[in-house]
Amino acid sequence: MTSPRIATLHWPDVPSYPPVFPVFLPFSGCPERCVFCAQDMQTGYAPRQTADALAEAARLLSERAEQALSAPELAFYGGTFTALPSAAFAACLEFARTARRRGLISGLRCSTRPDCLAPDRLAALRDAGCGCVELGVQSFADSALRQSRRGYDGLTAQAACTTVRTAGMRAGVQLMPGMPGSRPEDFLEDVRLALELGAACLRFYPCLVLEGTELATLWRAGRFEPWTLETVLEVLAEAFELAQRAGVPVIRMGLAPEAGLNDGVLAGPRHPALGARVQARCLWRRVARCLEEMRATGQAAADEPVELVLPRRLQGMYRGHAGELAARWAALGMADIRFHEEREEIRLERRTSHDVTATPHERF
Ligand code: SF4
Repeated sequence: MTSPRIATLHWPDVPSYPPVFPVFLPFSGCPERCVFCAQDMQTGYAPRQTADALAEAARLLSERAEQALSAPELAFYGGTFTALPSAAFAACLEFARTARRRGLISGLRCSTRPDCLAPDRLAALRDAGCGCVELGVQSFADSALRQSRRGYDGLTAQAACTTVRTAGMRAGVQLMPGMPGSRPEDFLEDVRLALELGAACLRFYPCLVLEGTELATLWRAGRFEPWTLETVLEVLAEAFELAQRAGVPVIRMGLAPEAGLNDGVLAGPRHPALGARVQARCLWRRVARCLEEMRATGQAAADEPVELVLPRRLQGMYRGHAGELAARWAALGMADIRFHEEREEIRLERRTSHDVTATPHERF
């Protein structure tokens, strides 16, 4: 027998993508080095010749094919791809065409700056089969862009999203909560804008102080203070919910753990399970708000035992890292938690006569 349901929340499953095969070209095409950027440290590659990067990629892609691994999506990351010198840009696109013809890759994507979108470069990218251009927007807020000396304004960043889509490709948006001049409310407004502008996917890279950057100098001089991890977790949970409601995947939160990055992080909000911690907080927020509404509207009495029924895939995550959210869950006053095999549905149910022997459950 099932319990009466009082509310249902949708929790979208993680979309499945082909694996990404990144070719890092650190700082290639960048007009100057941005204050927070240490692409060499972030990617694990020193600046290198495009030809060397392509030769390595050719070898590794052939090895993948010999091992019968599925064809990945080729991604040119680490610099300003659309501003590469002409010969290097053409060589990369020719490499992608050939690799695709040979079945070594399934698609192509790249990352670039919002102010480097010459029409001929976009047309060439699209003709080479590029499906997504990831824009290193960082923020749409003029004050943050100015203080980080990004060299473009918010309107330029907004126009970039439209330009990419008009050129026939998806626009991904990378944002940097905590960059100089940015406040949590600016970041949340950035997320709303990115979604309004039709972002196909989002990446959130909280601003870290990395050795060798201008930001490190500012931080040492006491002129920059990164956001705390707690601030980032809370604001990302809200941002994640905005994206989730819009049906837009957040494909990365926090820098990938490249070798050498650990030693180079001087300060800033960093945690190896950042994404999982953010999602756990988002889950708690959504359930808490729903329960509050149910009680406020009389759909559930204040003292009525309510059970939470979660997709089993969330079982290891909902309490947060090392149970950090256990007290928050307990404070909701829910009676019990159960799990089911449906992947996308969260239910709040009256605690009556469900068959507890058929459905393993745990206490808050
Ligand atoms: S943030 Fe982007 S544009 Fe700036 S230096 Fe790094 S890769 Fe280049």
